[in-house]
Amino acid sequence: MKADLHNHSYYSDGVLSPSAVVGLADEAGCDLFALTDHDTTDGLGEAIEAAAELPVNLVTGVEISAFWRNMTIHIVGLDLDTECEELQAGLRHNQEQRAERAERIALGLRRAGIADAMEKTQALSKTSMLTRTHFAQMLIQEGYCKDMKSVFRRFLVGKKPGGTRVEWKEFDEVIGWIHAAGGRAVLAHPFRYRMTNTKIKKMLLDFKEAGGDAMEVITATSTADEISWSEQWASEFNLLSSCGSDYHGWPNQRIRMGRLADLPESSNEIWKHFTCRY
Ligand code: AMP
Ligand code: MN
Ligand code: MN
Ligand code: MN
Repeated sequence: MKADLHNHSYYSDGVLSPSAVVGLADEAGCDLFALTDHDTTDGLGEAIEAAAELPVNLVTGVEISAFWRNMTIHIVGLDLDTECEELQAGLRHNQEQRAERAERIALGLRRAGIADAMEKTQALSKTSMLTRTHFAQMLIQEGYCKDMKSVFRRFLVGKKPGGTRVEWKEFDEVIGWIHAAGGRAVLAHPFRYRMTNTKIKKMLLDFKEAGGDAMEVITATSTADEISWSEQWASEFNLLSSCGSDYHGWPNQRIRMGRLADLPESSNEIWKHFTCRY
């Protein structure tokens, strides 16, 4: 089974349309593919239509921003009913937070001498959703920075001009939205939060106790050590295993879809627990 269960389209901060992303997954020979845009399921209709014409099976998904101990973490919801009102009310909360944050980012940038940040950034987005990635792209385009990494560091974090805190909901509440929609809650990319392994384990334990179902054991950037720790922790905390490349399609992102390592033999694969059998 070749699965890629974490990917983005231009409905959040990806570059391609949902149908183009589904097309890539199919070309890469994926059996199972999930579109998991940040805080929206709006791209799924198009993705489902595109997948209906192809051998690849589409799993519904979303990547939701949440708080754990006052830190932003990402929870991927998979195999969910996108019509669920509790889920959509939760996503609307996050979308409103994002819209208000975009205003604060633009204000911060204006104070730093960067005019019309909102208009210029909105012009780069295919939808009304503005992520920090859109502001990053705008700042690169306007010549303030040369790449994503430096633009985040210089403008979009902490006390930098466009740095601003967002009040995401606590992670147990977010797990609740996903469960209300009949989905599985997956802790995304555990090694990307700049936490020590001790802290990651504490997070995974809390996640499990809050009702979380799975963790990403394989991502596009996983090292051999990370895979072996993840395998151990998934088993220790009785979490299902998921895998996803977190493909965005940015020109300088080397990640390609469908090139993931296989899940370790011992894994309890998440797709065995989806409501739809694939
Ligand atoms: P947001 O959810 O709007 O705060 O944006 C977060 C997104 O920005 C993540 O999903 C990543 O795709 C991207 N991102 C965050 N930090 C960085 C970074 N240091 N370099 C490149 N991309 C980043
Ligand atoms: Mn992203
Ligand atoms: Mn993420
Ligand atoms: Mn992602």
